[in-house]
Amino acid sequence: MSLLDDVTKLETEVLERIGQADSLASLKELQVRYLGRKGPLTSLLRGLGSLPPEVRKQAGARANEVRKRLEAKFSEAVEKFSAEEKTSSFDPTLPGTCQQAGTAHILNQVMDEICSTFHGMGFEIARGPDVETDYYNFESLNFPPDHPARDMQDTFFVEGGRVLRTHTTPVQTRELEKRKPPIKIISPGAAYRNEAISTRAHASFHQVDGFLVDEGVTMADLKGALVAFCRAFFGEELKLKFRPSFFPFTEPSAEVDISCILCKGKGCQLCKYSGWLEILGCGMIDPAVLEITGHDPEKYTGYAFGMGVERVAMLKHKITDIRLLFNSNVRFLRQFF
Ligand SMILES: [Zn+2]
Repeated sequence: MSLLDDVTKLETEVLERIGQADSLASLKELQVRYLGRKGPLTSLLRGLGSLPPEVRKQAGARANEVRKRLEAKFSEAVEKFSAEEKTSSFDPTLPGTCQQAGTAHILNQVMDEICSTFHGMGFEIARGPDVETDYYNFESLNFPPDHPARDMQDTFFVEGGRVLRTHTTPVQTRELEKRKPPIKIISPGAAYRNEAISTRAHASFHQVDGFLVDEGVTMADLKGALVAFCRAFFGEELKLKFRPSFFPFTEPSAEVDISCILCKGKGCQLCKYSGWLEILGCGMIDPAVLEITGHDPEKYTGYAFGMGVERVAMLKHKITDIRLLFNSNVRFLRQFF
Protein backbone atom coordinates (compact mmCIF):
# COMPACT_ATOMS: atom_id res chain seq x y z
CA MET A 1 0.00 0.00 0.00
CA SER A 2 2.96 2.25 -0.40
CA LEU A 3 1.24 4.25 -3.18
CA LEU A 4 -1.66 5.22 -0.90
CA ASP A 5 0.85 6.23 1.76
CA ASP A 6 2.72 8.35 -0.80
CA VAL A 7 -0.54 10.11 -1.80
CA THR A 8 -1.37 10.92 1.85
CA LYS A 9 2.16 12.16 2.49
CA LEU A 10 2.02 14.34 -0.62
CA GLU A 11 -1.36 15.79 0.38
CA THR A 12 -0.07 16.79 3.83
CA GLU A 13 3.03 18.35 2.32
CA VAL A 14 1.11 20.39 -0.27
CA LEU A 15 -1.45 21.63 2.25
CA GLU A 16 1.36 22.75 4.52
CA ARG A 17 3.10 24.61 1.66
CA ILE A 18 -0.15 26.36 0.69
CA GLY A 19 -0.48 27.54 4.26
CA GLN A 20 3.04 28.96 4.18
CA ALA A 21 2.76 30.72 0.80
CA ASP A 22 3.19 34.50 1.26
CA SER A 23 2.26 35.81 -2.16
CA LEU A 24 0.15 35.10 -5.19
CA ALA A 25 3.28 34.36 -7.28
CA SER A 26 4.66 31.76 -4.85
CA LEU A 27 1.25 30.11 -4.69
CA LYS A 28 1.05 29.79 -8.46
CA GLU A 29 4.55 28.35 -8.56
CA LEU A 30 3.54 25.70 -5.99
CA GLN A 31 0.46 24.80 -8.03
CA VAL A 32 2.56 24.13 -11.13
CA ARG A 33 5.19 22.25 -9.16
CA TYR A 34 2.77 19.83 -7.45
CA LEU A 35 -0.22 19.58 -9.74
CA GLY A 36 1.42 20.22 -13.14
CA ARG A 37 2.12 17.59 -15.76
CA LYS A 38 5.62 17.01 -14.44
CA GLY A 39 4.50 17.08 -10.83
CA PRO A 40 4.64 14.18 -8.32
CA LEU A 41 0.89 13.59 -8.34
CA THR A 42 0.81 13.07 -12.11
CA SER A 43 3.69 10.60 -11.92
CA LEU A 44 1.94 8.70 -9.09
CA LEU A 45 -1.17 8.41 -11.25
CA ARG A 46 0.93 7.18 -14.14
CA GLY A 47 2.34 4.43 -11.94
CA LEU A 48 -1.19 3.04 -11.31
CA GLY A 49 -1.03 0.92 -14.44
CA SER A 50 1.54 -1.42 -12.93
CA LEU A 51 -0.68 -2.29 -9.94
CA PRO A 52 -3.07 -5.27 -9.64
CA PRO A 53 -6.62 -4.29 -10.80
CA GLU A 54 -8.37 -4.36 -7.34
CA VAL A 55 -5.67 -2.20 -5.78
CA ARG A 56 -5.52 0.06 -8.82
CA LYS A 57 -9.19 1.05 -8.46
CA GLN A 58 -8.87 1.99 -4.82
CA ALA A 59 -5.59 3.84 -5.32
CA GLY A 60 -6.89 5.67 -8.41
CA ALA A 61 -10.01 6.86 -6.59
CA ARG A 62 -7.89 8.09 -3.66
CA ALA A 63 -5.40 9.90 -5.92
CA ASN A 64 -8.17 11.68 -7.84
CA GLU A 65 -9.89 12.67 -4.63
CA VAL A 66 -6.64 14.24 -3.36
CA ARG A 67 -6.06 16.06 -6.66
CA LYS A 68 -9.56 17.58 -6.53
CA ARG A 69 -9.15 18.61 -2.92
CA LEU A 70 -5.76 20.23 -3.57
CA GLU A 71 -7.08 22.05 -6.64
CA ALA A 72 -9.94 23.46 -4.56
CA LYS A 73 -7.46 24.55 -1.85
CA PHE A 74 -5.26 26.27 -4.41
CA SER A 75 -8.10 28.23 -5.98
CA GLU A 76 -9.37 29.25 -2.55
CA ALA A 77 -5.90 30.56 -1.57
CA VAL A 78 -5.41 32.30 -4.96
CA GLU A 79 -8.75 34.09 -4.50
CA LYS A 80 -7.76 35.26 -1.02
CA PHE A 81 -4.40 36.66 -2.20
CA SER A 82 -5.96 38.36 -5.24
CA ALA A 83 -8.50 40.14 -3.03
CA GLU A 84 -5.75 41.31 -0.65
CA GLU A 85 -3.54 42.59 -3.44
CA LYS A 86 -6.46 44.49 -4.93
CA THR A 87 -7.24 46.36 -1.70
CA SER A 88 -3.62 47.16 -0.85
CA SER A 89 -2.66 48.32 -4.33
CA PHE A 90 -2.03 52.04 -4.90
CA ASP A 91 -4.82 53.88 -6.63
CA PRO A 92 -3.54 57.13 -8.19
CA THR A 93 -7.07 58.39 -8.87
CA LEU A 94 -7.94 58.67 -5.15
CA PRO A 95 -7.75 62.19 -3.64
CA GLY A 96 -4.69 62.90 -1.45
CA THR A 97 -4.71 63.04 2.38
CA CYS A 98 -5.00 66.62 3.56
CA GLN A 99 -2.38 67.71 6.10
CA GLN A 100 -3.74 70.15 8.67
CA ALA A 101 -1.56 73.24 8.96
CA GLY A 102 -0.81 74.62 12.42
CA THR A 103 -2.10 78.01 13.51
CA ALA A 104 -1.16 80.54 16.19
CA HIS A 105 -2.23 79.75 19.78
CA ILE A 106 -5.34 81.64 20.88
CA LEU A 107 -3.22 83.82 23.22
CA ASN A 108 -0.96 84.83 20.34
CA GLN A 109 -3.99 85.48 18.16
CA VAL A 110 -5.48 87.81 20.80
CA MET A 111 -2.12 89.49 21.45
CA ASP A 112 -1.67 90.06 17.69
CA GLU A 113 -5.19 91.47 17.44
CA ILE A 114 -4.59 93.91 20.34
CA CYS A 115 -1.27 94.99 18.80
CA SER A 116 -2.66 95.44 15.30
CA THR A 117 -5.54 97.57 16.66
CA PHE A 118 -3.01 99.89 18.36
CA HIS A 119 -0.69 99.69 15.38
CA GLY A 120 -3.58 101.10 13.33
CA MET A 121 -3.68 104.00 15.79
CA GLY A 122 -0.01 104.77 15.11
CA PHE A 123 1.73 102.82 17.90
CA GLU A 124 5.05 101.11 17.19
CA ILE A 125 5.80 97.65 18.64
CA ALA A 126 8.79 97.21 21.01
CA ARG A 127 9.88 94.24 23.10
CA GLY A 128 12.09 93.73 26.15
CA PRO A 129 13.78 90.80 27.96
CA ASP A 130 11.81 88.38 30.20
CA VAL A 131 14.71 88.29 32.71
CA GLU A 132 14.90 91.88 33.86
CA THR A 133 17.09 93.87 36.23
CA ASP A 134 15.66 95.17 39.47
CA TYR A 135 16.31 98.67 38.09
CA TYR A 136 14.07 98.34 35.04
CA ASN A 137 11.40 96.18 36.68
CA PHE A 138 11.00 98.39 39.79
CA GLU A 139 13.33 101.29 40.42
CA SER A 140 13.03 103.12 37.09
CA LEU A 141 9.25 102.79 37.41
CA ASN A 142 9.28 104.74 40.64
CA PHE A 143 9.29 101.79 43.06
CA PRO A 144 12.07 102.68 45.58
CA PRO A 145 13.76 99.61 47.18
CA ASP A 146 11.63 99.78 50.34
CA HIS A 147 8.41 100.97 48.69
CA PRO A 148 5.34 99.06 49.94
CA ALA A 149 4.00 98.85 46.35
CA ARG A 150 6.53 96.07 45.71
CA ASP A 151 4.30 93.84 47.84
CA MET A 152 1.66 94.04 45.12
CA GLN A 153 3.85 91.85 42.96
CA ASP A 154 5.23 88.61 44.30
CA THR A 155 8.45 88.37 42.38
CA PHE A 156 10.51 85.41 41.08
CA PHE A 157 14.15 86.23 41.74
CA VAL A 158 16.88 84.95 39.41
CA GLU A 159 20.60 84.50 40.22
CA GLY A 160 22.64 87.66 40.06
CA GLY A 161 19.95 89.86 41.61
CA ARG A 162 17.78 89.84 38.51
CA VAL A 163 14.06 89.06 38.35
CA LEU A 164 11.55 87.49 35.99
CA ARG A 165 9.73 90.66 34.97
CA THR A 166 6.48 91.07 36.90
CA HIS A 167 4.96 93.21 34.14
CA THR A 168 5.81 94.35 30.59
CA THR A 169 6.07 97.99 31.75
CA PRO A 170 9.92 97.92 31.98
CA VAL A 171 9.88 98.23 28.16
CA GLN A 172 8.53 101.75 28.78
CA THR A 173 11.68 102.96 30.57
CA ARG A 174 13.97 101.04 28.22
CA GLU A 175 12.39 102.81 25.22
CA LEU A 176 12.13 106.20 26.95
CA GLU A 177 15.90 106.09 27.58
CA LYS A 178 16.59 105.47 23.88
CA ARG A 179 14.15 107.79 22.11
CA LYS A 180 13.06 111.42 21.82
CA PRO A 181 9.36 112.44 21.96
CA PRO A 182 6.94 112.03 20.32
CA ILE A 183 7.10 108.34 21.37
CA LYS A 184 4.16 105.97 20.81
CA ILE A 185 4.91 102.38 21.80
CA ILE A 186 3.00 99.14 22.38
CA SER A 187 4.86 96.23 24.02
CA PRO A 188 3.45 92.70 24.14
CA GLY A 189 5.03 89.79 26.02
CA ALA A 190 5.18 87.40 28.96
CA ALA A 191 5.28 88.37 32.64
CA TYR A 192 5.64 86.28 35.80
CA ARG A 193 4.36 86.45 39.37
CA ASN A 194 4.61 84.00 42.21
CA GLU A 195 0.87 83.35 42.44
CA ALA A 196 -1.09 80.22 43.30
CA ILE A 197 -2.51 78.76 40.07
CA SER A 198 -6.32 78.84 40.02
CA THR A 199 -9.17 79.30 37.53
CA ARG A 200 -8.38 83.03 37.39
CA ALA A 201 -4.63 83.34 38.07
CA HIS A 202 -1.44 81.80 36.67
CA ALA A 203 2.23 82.29 37.59
CA SER A 204 3.08 82.93 33.93
CA PHE A 205 0.85 85.23 31.90
CA HIS A 206 0.94 87.84 29.12
CA GLN A 207 0.46 91.57 28.99
CA VAL A 208 0.28 94.31 26.45
CA ASP A 209 1.57 97.66 27.68
CA GLY A 210 1.42 100.93 25.80
CA PHE A 211 2.44 104.53 26.31
CA LEU A 212 2.64 107.87 24.58
CA VAL A 213 4.93 110.78 25.45
CA ASP A 214 4.76 114.17 23.75
CA GLU A 215 4.13 117.84 24.47
CA GLY A 216 0.65 118.63 25.77
CA VAL A 217 -0.62 115.05 26.25
CA THR A 218 -3.58 114.96 28.65
CA MET A 219 -5.90 112.46 30.33
CA ALA A 220 -8.41 113.22 27.57
CA ASP A 221 -5.96 111.72 25.01
CA LEU A 222 -5.66 108.62 27.16
CA LYS A 223 -9.43 108.24 27.42
CA GLY A 224 -9.82 108.78 23.68
CA ALA A 225 -7.24 106.11 22.82
CA LEU A 226 -8.69 103.53 25.22
CA VAL A 227 -12.30 104.14 24.20
CA ALA A 228 -11.28 103.74 20.55
CA PHE A 229 -9.38 100.52 21.30
CA CYS A 230 -12.08 98.88 23.47
CA ARG A 231 -14.84 99.67 20.97
CA ALA A 232 -12.78 98.37 18.05
CA PHE A 233 -11.99 95.22 20.00
CA PHE A 234 -15.24 94.38 21.80
CA GLY A 235 -17.93 96.27 19.86
CA GLU A 236 -19.07 99.81 19.08
CA GLU A 237 -21.90 99.87 21.63
CA LEU A 238 -19.48 99.32 24.55
CA LYS A 239 -19.54 101.71 27.55
CA LEU A 240 -16.38 102.51 29.57
CA LYS A 241 -15.92 103.61 33.16
CA PHE A 242 -12.68 105.07 34.57
CA ARG A 243 -12.18 104.39 38.31
CA PRO A 244 -9.39 106.04 40.38
CA SER A 245 -6.61 103.57 41.25
CA PHE A 246 -2.93 103.47 42.15
CA PHE A 247 0.25 102.46 40.29
CA PRO A 248 3.72 103.75 41.33
CA PHE A 249 4.57 104.77 37.75
CA THR A 250 1.42 106.77 36.90
CA GLU A 251 -0.20 109.80 38.55
CA PRO A 252 -3.17 110.07 38.46
CA SER A 253 -3.92 106.35 37.92
CA ALA A 254 -7.16 104.69 36.86
CA GLU A 255 -8.66 101.32 36.19
CA VAL A 256 -11.01 100.87 33.26
CA ASP A 257 -14.19 98.82 33.35
CA ILE A 258 -16.18 97.99 30.26
CA SER A 259 -19.92 97.29 30.19
CA CYS A 260 -20.44 93.50 30.41
CA ILE A 261 -20.07 92.01 26.93
CA LEU A 262 -22.45 89.16 27.83
CA CYS A 263 -25.43 90.90 29.49
CA LYS A 264 -24.71 94.41 28.08
CA GLY A 265 -24.77 95.85 31.61
CA LYS A 266 -27.97 94.20 32.89
CA GLY A 267 -26.10 91.90 35.30
CA CYS A 268 -25.06 88.25 34.91
CA GLN A 269 -22.74 85.61 36.38
CA LEU A 270 -19.73 86.79 34.28
CA CYS A 271 -19.87 90.35 35.65
CA LYS A 272 -20.97 89.13 39.12
CA TYR A 273 -24.26 91.00 38.57
CA SER A 274 -22.48 94.39 38.52
CA GLY A 275 -22.89 94.98 34.79
CA TRP A 276 -19.17 95.90 34.51
CA LEU A 277 -15.91 94.01 33.76
CA GLU A 278 -12.41 95.15 34.75
CA ILE A 279 -10.25 95.29 31.65
CA LEU A 280 -7.11 97.40 32.12
CA GLY A 281 -5.05 99.78 34.23
CA CYS A 282 -3.82 103.18 33.06
CA GLY A 283 -2.79 106.68 34.04
CA MET A 284 -0.64 109.70 33.27
CA ILE A 285 3.09 108.80 33.38
CA ASP A 286 4.51 109.96 36.71
CA PRO A 287 6.84 112.98 36.20
CA ALA A 288 9.45 111.06 38.22
CA VAL A 289 9.59 108.35 35.49
CA LEU A 290 10.12 110.98 32.79
CA GLU A 291 12.86 112.58 34.85
CA ILE A 292 14.62 109.24 35.57
CA THR A 293 14.70 108.51 31.81
CA GLY A 294 16.07 111.94 30.89
CA HIS A 295 12.98 113.81 29.72
CA ASP A 296 11.92 117.22 31.04
CA PRO A 297 8.57 116.72 32.86
CA GLU A 298 7.88 120.44 32.52
CA LYS A 299 7.94 120.10 28.75
CA TYR A 300 6.61 116.58 28.16
CA THR A 301 3.69 114.61 29.51
CA GLY A 302 2.51 111.14 28.66
CA TYR A 303 0.00 108.40 29.34
CA ALA A 304 0.47 104.68 29.86
CA PHE A 305 -1.83 101.66 30.02
CA GLY A 306 -1.53 97.90 30.40
CA MET A 307 -3.81 94.89 30.11
CA GLY A 308 -3.68 91.16 30.74
CA VAL A 309 -3.92 89.18 27.48
CA GLU A 310 -5.41 86.12 29.23
CA ARG A 311 -8.18 88.25 30.76
CA VAL A 312 -8.98 89.85 27.39
CA ALA A 313 -8.94 86.46 25.63
CA MET A 314 -11.14 84.87 28.29
CA LEU A 315 -13.71 87.69 28.07
CA LYS A 316 -13.71 87.82 24.29
CA HIS A 317 -14.03 84.03 23.84
CA LYS A 318 -16.07 83.25 27.02
CA ILE A 319 -13.34 81.00 28.46
CA THR A 320 -14.03 80.21 32.12
CA ASP A 321 -10.70 78.74 33.31
CA ILE A 322 -7.29 80.38 32.66
CA ARG A 323 -5.56 76.96 32.90
CA LEU A 324 -7.21 75.91 29.62
CA LEU A 325 -4.94 78.44 27.92
CA PHE A 326 -1.80 76.67 29.17
CA ASN A 327 -2.43 72.92 29.18
CA SER A 328 -2.05 72.33 25.43
CA ASN A 329 -5.32 70.43 25.02
CA VAL A 330 -5.66 70.26 21.24
CA ARG A 331 -9.41 69.62 21.40
CA PHE A 332 -9.81 72.94 23.25
CA LEU A 333 -7.35 74.86 21.07
CA ARG A 334 -8.82 73.57 17.81
CA GLN A 335 -11.93 75.70 18.42
CA PHE A 336 -9.83 78.73 17.59
CA PHE A 337 -8.16 77.39 14.43
ZN1 LIG B 1 -22.84 90.57 32.75
